[in-house]
Amino acid sequence: MAKKVEYNRLKCIGNGNCVASAPSYFQLNENGSKAILKNSKEKDDVFVSTIEENKLNDVIEAAKQCPVNAIKIYDDETDEDIVSVNIKKDKVEEIEAKYDDLKEFEMDKKGYFLIRVNKEKQRVEVGHCGELNKVDVMVYGTNPLEIYMTVIKKDLIENMGHAAYLGREIQKACTALKHNLEYIQDDELETV
Ligand code: SF4
Repeated sequence: MAKKVEYNRLKCIGNGNCVASAPSYFQLNENGSKAILKNSKEKDDVFVSTIEENKLNDVIEAAKQCPVNAIKIYDDETDEDIVSVNIKKDKVEEIEAKYDDLKEFEMDKKGYFLIRVNKEKQRVEVGHCGELNKVDVMVYGTNPLEIYMTVIKKDLIENMGHAAYLGREIQKACTALKHNLEYIQDDELETV
């Protein structure tokens, strides 16, 4: 069964991946801005050529390497799109976000944090408790990145979910400080 390669010049951005993968089929034009499909027939900037059996893998690779999908390979008899069948295997997996805090929550072995906005000192304070209600380290600041990176550098956190939670709460606290809003840990910000 004959396989055809179709090259769309309008889509091409001329990065040359196809030339590297299948030099017997593709070359760049004189100024390097577009590919040329050798020995092809053209209609409306779409070029078509028949693929020799022993070059099929090279041309398939060229199509896969094209960043803008300017190259298509299909079976001339069935019209089946060969490369898109292969590409489907690499399709991005979409996962609906789900999490049950009651069932899945895991306590961080290194402790927990008490977060507050200190309006008098105009800063956010993050207290680490290694034991129940006993703050052993307090990190303060006004920049979320600086605060949570200091927490990480001081090795006060271990659990990734906990780190994500802390980042979100520190961001909320800093936003509350900046806009003079009420901050209560774990509550949504009141944006009146
Ligand atoms: S890989 Fe695609 S974009 Fe790059 S030159 Fe070839 S056809 Fe054009």
